[in-house]
Amino acid sequence: MAGRSAMNGVASVATRSDVLMAQARALMPGGVSSPVRAFDAVGGSPRVIERGSGAWITDVDGNTLLDLVLSWGPLIAGHAHPRIVEAVSAVMARGSSFGAPCEVEIRLAERIVATMPAVEMLRFVSSGTEAVMSAVRLARAATGRRGIVKFTGCYHGHSDALLASAGSGVATLSLPDSPGVSPAVVADTHLAAYNDLDAVAELFRAQGDQIAAVLVEPVAGNMGVVPPLPGFLEGLRQLTAEHGALLVFDEVMSGWRVHPGGAQALYGIAPDLTTMGKVMGGGLPAAAYGGRRELMELVAPQGTVYQAGTLSGNPVAMAAGLANLELISEAGAWARAEAWARDAATILESAAAEHGVPLTVQRVGTMFTPFFTDQPVRNFSDARQSDRAAFARFFHGMLAAGVYLPPSPLEAGFSSIVHDADALEHFARAVRSALAC
Ligand code: PLP
Repeated sequence: MAGRSAMNGVASVATRSDVLMAQARALMPGGVSSPVRAFDAVGGSPRVIERGSGAWITDVDGNTLLDLVLSWGPLIAGHAHPRIVEAVSAVMARGSSFGAPCEVEIRLAERIVATMPAVEMLRFVSSGTEAVMSAVRLARAATGRRGIVKFTGCYHGHSDALLASAGSGVATLSLPDSPGVSPAVVADTHLAAYNDLDAVAELFRAQGDQIAAVLVEPVAGNMGVVPPLPGFLEGLRQLTAEHGALLVFDEVMSGWRVHPGGAQALYGIAPDLTTMGKVMGGGLPAAAYGGRRELMELVAPQGTVYQAGTLSGNPVAMAAGLANLELISEAGAWARAEAWARDAATILESAAAEHGVPLTVQRVGTMFTPFFTDQPVRNFSDARQSDRAAFARFFHGMLAAGVYLPPSPLEAGFSSIVHDADALEHFARAVRSALAC
């Protein structure tokens, strides 16, 4: 690999990634199509990725890396899984989109309804942002109220009303909120700290008759992985039911990742509405919102709540999503992905203990985050108190040792059904060398 920086007065040779990123920065803000990819949270310049196979990706300079980003969650069957490639190719050859119903869309809907306990009916869209935005519209229409409760550090896509104190890239870049969002649009968005049921109870006491919905990542992933404390989700279910508000689980990330039936199956709590994305699209742009039948029947054309999309439910994305969900439902497959994440967490914890590094690894199912702190992380404020400079050093140590982690301390890493024993050994070697630096 060519040198990355000037050392001892010797001019560095730019890598092909560096050359391409310089071209990209002249054409696209930050040179990227989504902010966290730009490495702002960890420093340095992103690798430009050329291809992926199974658990591994290869950059344009020929470096092969163990991938724990997996396109930020969707690739639970790894890169270019032959079954997904085959399914997508077969559909693609017959035409990529018709703007008309197709059978594979019905098959994917069936499978989602069969796996997500609280989803009786759904509507496909193309991104998680669209799914949440549409679910919020539906919740407001169904209740005749405007208020939405969201939690600081949770990210629900980049629609205006939900950018208040959001996680993911907004948190990574330390943006309080985004300019360009008019105050009127967020006026009905009420904030509470994650896992703080008392704060939500207080909001309901003060203005319960104006709150349409509580929107929550049932396992937070966008401030790093933060599980719900016992009683938190149950309390939200109870408060919303008591006050005639809806409970919306944003399972865009947690869906099929914390459990094959999402957080709603893992914790046995039925939200009124669920938003989904990532895994259900198998690496192509597909997302959905769904829930109780009588609520979903309010969506046009059955009802009057308008929402539409040119490429929604296109057969290519539907085929990729269906193949992805089929693959994880095969005997032992999902459990393999979870076991890999569990073993990776154990490796991180024991290596950190050996090196005297304060580290708290938080994991639910196939999602995990190493927080550089000796304290449990229960909310966004805890997450932000972790040592982010230590994470950045660790990130670069791991990258140098051939492991691609999310380039931010406030994001989740992911495993897949094709992360195997070799990948785990490679990971363990990298962890030891990165923590020794
Ligand atoms: N909701 C959650 C919980 C997410 O994690 C994300 C994306 O990371 C979104 C919504 C937005 O999804 P998309 O990036 O597909 O718009």
